Amino acid sequence: MPLFRRAVSLAEAISVIRAALIANPSAPLPDDLRELSASLQRRESPQEASAPRPELIEAFPEPAGLIEGGCRFAAGNAALDQLLSGRTVGRTVLQATRCDVLHECAVRALAGAGDRLELTLPNVGKTVQAVAAPLPGGRALLVLRDLTAQKRAETVRRDFIANASHELRTPVSAITGAAETLLDMHVDDGVRSFIELIARQAARLARLTSDLLDLSRLEAGVWPVEAGAFEVLPICEGALELVRERATQKGIHLGVDVAPELMFRADPRAMEQILVNLLDNAIKHTPEGGRVTVLGDSAGAQIIVSVLDTGPGIEPRHQQRIFERFYRADNGRARSDGGSGLGLAIVKHLAQAQGGEAGVESGRGGSRFWVRLPGTDSVLSCHNNVTQNA
Ligand code: ADP
Repeated sequence: MPLFRRAVSLAEAISVIRAALIANPSAPLPDDLRELSASLQRRESPQEASAPRPELIEAFPEPAGLIEGGCRFAAGNAALDQLLSGRTVGRTVLQATRCDVLHECAVRALAGAGDRLELTLPNVGKTVQAVAAPLPGGRALLVLRDLTAQKRAETVRRDFIANASHELRTPVSAITGAAETLLDMHVDDGVRSFIELIARQAARLARLTSDLLDLSRLEAGVWPVEAGAFEVLPICEGALELVRERATQKGIHLGVDVAPELMFRADPRAMEQILVNLLDNAIKHTPEGGRVTVLGDSAGAQIIVSVLDTGPGIEPRHQQRIFERFYRADNGRARSDGGSGLGLAIVKHLAQAQGGEAGVESGRGGSRFWVRLPGTDSVLSCHNNVTQNA
């Protein structure tokens, strides 16, 4: 049940939020602050509504303030003053934060339209999640959750992974090159098997570092996903060509069933990477003589591209988790197959960056990995800043 359905007053609502935040400090702020204001509008008397309640704002666990007409702080807690480096009461939102976007957000909340956004406050250089909710009596509640430390930690982690992967590329390609040169020479079978082992493991390391680099680029928004209107079939055929040799070696029949007129809103490079990752997996897990098929369907305003295989399928308990980094349904086998454990995490991030999503359905007869993307008629909601960790 949403938190605020239970709350009967501002005081109670604040204590409910406080309890929730103490129980789980890293959880996002409750989604239904708008519900809080609606509920207070219904429940509080006009006298209660018009009286400022600074003691309740003080009890708030996050930097919070009450805003009234003129977009001025009528009350603010010590955490808010500390965040904004000065006393806020009596100052306008613009004076206290020097942030136009936040000022406009507060104006909208005073007019009855709550909002939630992430922004950087220029005067203090801090990144916050701002939640503005209309309150009775033409006032609004403004909560600013400080995300600066969290963002910094995310950046440090991302930069470390990107730098480490980048630095590893040169030694790994030197090892691969040396192993290949040795394999071209006349060496006895015992030595050859060791060199082959080195070559195989070096190739695995190369894949791992390049996948890690791709993931951190995606997260940092350095991989600019640019979606446009494209025909689905040529992109599917292009991806199938890239994996055809591997499929032929394993005697796997490749097929495609996509209507030539089917269009989607996608980034062709991102879509090709998604399909190659899914096709690679499908070929890897399907036994010799099996079949792998790419399907394209429309579903309302969206397009679903699927990769079907006739492999062993994935147990239901693993299906929710295989899109996480390094999660493997069959640990030993997946490692010996040389996978990085990152292929599906990249698929998920790339689908999200194009305004879509990815998923799987699987049973004993095989698996269907799908990507749902906007059709050309739908309004594009494309974002490339993936904050959620896979
Ligand atoms: P990996 O490099 O291990 O293949 P992925 O992220 O691509 O990493 O896949 C994660 C796990 O999902 C794999 O280790 C495997 O257990 C499972 N998986 C992925 N695709 C398939 C498939 N088509 N059939 C069966 N299992 C699959």
